[in-house]
Amino acid sequence: MEKQARIYVAGHRGMVGSALVRKLQAEGYSQIITRTSSELDLRNQAAVADFFADERPDYVFLAAAKVGGILANNTYRAEFLYDNLMIESNIIHSAYKTGVKKLLFLGSSCIYPKLAPQPLKEEYLLSGYLEPTNEPYAIAKITGIKLCEAYRSQYGCNFISAMPTNLYGPNDNYDLNGSHVLPALIRKFHEAKVNNLPTVEVWGTGSPRREFLHADDLADACFFLMENYDDELFVNIGTGEDVTIREVAELIKEIVGFEGELRWNTDKPDGTPRKLMDVSRLHSFGWKHATELKDGLEKTYQDFLTNEVMYVE
Ligand code: GDP
Repeated sequence: MEKQARIYVAGHRGMVGSALVRKLQAEGYSQIITRTSSELDLRNQAAVADFFADERPDYVFLAAAKVGGILANNTYRAEFLYDNLMIESNIIHSAYKTGVKKLLFLGSSCIYPKLAPQPLKEEYLLSGYLEPTNEPYAIAKITGIKLCEAYRSQYGCNFISAMPTNLYGPNDNYDLNGSHVLPALIRKFHEAKVNNLPTVEVWGTGSPRREFLHADDLADACFFLMENYDDELFVNIGTGEDVTIREVAELIKEIVGFEGELRWNTDKPDGTPRKLMDVSRLHSFGWKHATELKDGLEKTYQDFLTNEVMYVE
């Protein structure tokens, strides 16, 4: 990407989009195009078409999505399917119509079948049933991959896709009903410490395994792929290492300095038992993550302390 290129980051206020903007700014890009959701409703086909026709971006990072943790995905099933289908379809089609040079679509590791062999290789897509708690979101993300493939095959568009593992970092969602596990536990342990509470409720059994990648590492990988990768097959982005929910809960407890007990609420769902990415293709291209989980969580807790008022309002 030329330094003067016009680059649209869709979803720039989110954890991924904001990390992408930080990365692009650090690399010296000055024409970064953004819109808040109140300025541009990405579900609105005509509005998105007008925006692309006016702004004419050269490159697009598609990091806008309706996202959330296990409870939000399972509760707002229609919104997770409809909003994400509309966002992707509108952006990808408008990118084609206005001759965008390259687009990177961001999916999720939940696209893989619930019981696929681990670690998850790209070729396992659509080889089995999905995890029910986030099936609508996964179907939307699979559709995004297929849109990129189809626009590449029929129209010759250079649209690529990347599938990140579970992410964490600045600008995460700390709303306990909508968030993923790491921000939820940072907030719960912190509030329990401050209020001298004896226990913290943690969901499920603690036995599911999850892989976690820092958002800044994801942004770095996306930039790398935008510069170096032009093929149809999507690319997994992760660390290739996972931990149990119990292990990560103990780690966050230690980092926050909460001295009470964990109370496991098994009325809440575990979700998929494991979703460890096979990142051998990404590694073979020459990219590897830089932030280890403990360091990343320490940084993230410091960021939470700095921005707590904004995050928990
Ligand atoms: P998932 O990766 O799509 O299942 O999404 P989450 O990050 O929301 O949940 C990951 C795992 O962490 C699941 O097994 C949850 O039950 C477990 N978990 C434990 N405590 C919490 C919590 O307070 N919030 C969330 N979201 N998950 C929790």
